[in-house]
Amino acid sequence: MKRDFYEVLGVERGADIETIKKAYRKLALRYHPDRNPDDPEAESRFKEINEAYDVLKDEKKRAAYDAMGHAAFANGGAHAHGFEGFARGFDADHFSDIFDQFFGEMMGGQRGRSGRRRGADQKVELEITLEEAFRGAEKQVRVHTLVRCETCRGSGAAPGSEPTLCPTCEGAGRLRARQGFFTIEQTCPHCGGSGRVISDPCKDCGGRGLKEKDRTLTVRIPRGVEEGTRIRLAGEGSAGLHGGPPGDLYIFLTIRRHPIFEREGAHLFCRVPLPMTTAILGGELEIPTIDGARTVLKIPEGTQSGRRFRLKGKGMPELRSERRGDMIVEARVETPVRLNRKQKELVQRLAEELGEKQSPESRNFFDRVKAFWEDLTE
Ligand SMILES: [Zn+2]
Ligand SMILES: [Zn+2]
Repeated sequence: MKRDFYEVLGVERGADIETIKKAYRKLALRYHPDRNPDDPEAESRFKEINEAYDVLKDEKKRAAYDAMGHAAFANGGAHAHGFEGFARGFDADHFSDIFDQFFGEMMGGQRGRSGRRRGADQKVELEITLEEAFRGAEKQVRVHTLVRCETCRGSGAAPGSEPTLCPTCEGAGRLRARQGFFTIEQTCPHCGGSGRVISDPCKDCGGRGLKEKDRTLTVRIPRGVEEGTRIRLAGEGSAGLHGGPPGDLYIFLTIRRHPIFEREGAHLFCRVPLPMTTAILGGELEIPTIDGARTVLKIPEGTQSGRRFRLKGKGMPELRSERRGDMIVEARVETPVRLNRKQKELVQRLAEELGEKQSPESRNFFDRVKAFWEDLTE
């Protein structure tokens, strides 16, 4: 059951407007949700106080209330607002719902919370090496962020003073204008929507309640992260306003180019020069691996340039998994340079020794070239 509006404000039925205002201010300050965070009791009291005040401060509404009590607004709220014609078109309960909703939003919901604002999310970029992405890492990031001012404990008011209710919006943070049945809301220009004004601002933060600060945070980079991975540190963004929750910090990872390995998802790719003689005779080639070790790759006799070898499980770890990708090694046969006379003679002799069959690709290719030229001359 709804309490009597006069009782809610603790004033006599015949109290004048000044007395009502005074009583309202005192109670509104006491039960303001900013002063009673997460206290549903205080919140509902605050709502009740505002609802009562909204009626009693308005001459017409007060007269309607005095005449009919709460019933004035259950089905006759329209009366006080001058749209009785409208109200008759509604079924009474429905109208009362809408009216309550108005009160609920205007008086309780918005008014109570308007000053508290969640802090902004922040974004930082962090470059890591491929080895760090491979192993996982702990990295320090420096963030320039807003933190709560400790001097005023975030209130913005100098120590010893307190913010007061904004006289323009009476703590709502919003102003509303009625246009017929509809209500148009706007943020209160006087208090900027916080519902409060500070007459003696905190000198450390200039009344903002927040201060800029460089912070260093430790970020754990999981194994297997990829370029563009976004890590969210909940609550590490900018501090909230007037007791609002802080924002989050997002870390965007980029991975520095590696001098040896190229990454393709979980696989690693690398090009390795292969001495011509090893390519011809076969042999072994020592290959670096991302874990800092090395592995020996068997090169079969007659390996062609560009041939790819797959080393199973030598790639990157997959995120949140024990699996690892492969390493793909592309052999690039290297032509020896700066030969001395003796070496040139040996190669010359080798060339004389080699028959067509020893260069199957060339033979194949030149057969095709021959056919092409023959086509042209026909
Ligand atoms: Zn301060
Ligand atoms: Zn205001």
